[in-house]
Amino acid sequence: MKKTRMRYCPWCGGGLEPRQVGERERLACGADGCGYVFWDNPTPIVAAIVEQDDHVVLIRNKGWPEKWLGLVSGFLERDAVLAALSETFAKKHPSAMGPNERTFVRGCEEVRLVAEPRPDTGDQAARRAAPRPGPEFGYLTAPIGGCITEVGNTVFKDLSASRQGFVPVFDPEECVHCGLCDLVCPDHCFVWRQEPGAGDEEIQVRLAGIDYNYCKGCMRCIDSCPSGALTKHEEPEGFADAHRVPMFSNPRKSRRR
Ligand code: SF4
Ligand code: SF4
Repeated sequence: MKKTRMRYCPWCGGGLEPRQVGERERLACGADGCGYVFWDNPTPIVAAIVEQDDHVVLIRNKGWPEKWLGLVSGFLERDAVLAALSETFAKKHPSAMGPNERTFVRGCEEVRLVAEPRPDTGDQAARRAAPRPGPEFGYLTAPIGGCITEVGNTVFKDLSASRQGFVPVFDPEECVHCGLCDLVCPDHCFVWRQEPGAGDEEIQVRLAGIDYNYCKGCMRCIDSCPSGALTKHEEPEGFADAHRVPMFSNPRKSRRR
């Protein structure tokens, strides 16, 4: 795994070097008397509520003011988070392990912290008046949540990791092609085909199947189906790949953006 690119001490500018700190090798400042240690713990924390008899144990950091108390807690370093993530996905969805690991590592390495200039003054009122950028999205402009509005907009989109071990299974013999399942599906998984009608009938639109790449297993379609053409089944390994009806023959060509 690629490690952090931090090379110099943010306190004194000295070079960082690997050193044993707290039973583990960490980057620490080599300058005499500096003492800076780089803790690779960007955000995740863990906290515990410890009960003893009828009481909850709280702790106080030795650097805190006397009346401050807190839960027993600490930061998680990146390797620990990554190991827990990998363990979770290795059991449940091995195929999703690699993409999730890569996403986590990119989140750690590519995030940029941008410092806003603030007025060079100790005056609180002036600081509060400093211009701040407004949020890009508010409740009126935020994208629709929980719904993929542009199906196939990502070549590698695969929602199979969201499923809980069950898939909707389509039986074409029972289907009356009413389209109710498509109306309720939040991810537009249903694939339709045009077929010539019998005799003088116009072209008919028929449900061909489900593209399991986009199916997150919410089972709304099953509740909506009036004919029993959709039923809930356990999802054995490889079932989705073997039975999916692809929405696009070549996702790269079909991207809308
Ligand atoms: S379970 Fe049905 S409604 Fe839910 S995402 Fe899959 S196909 Fe769509
Ligand atoms: S709701 Fe059921 S019957 Fe209607 S199109 Fe979907 S699968 Fe077919």
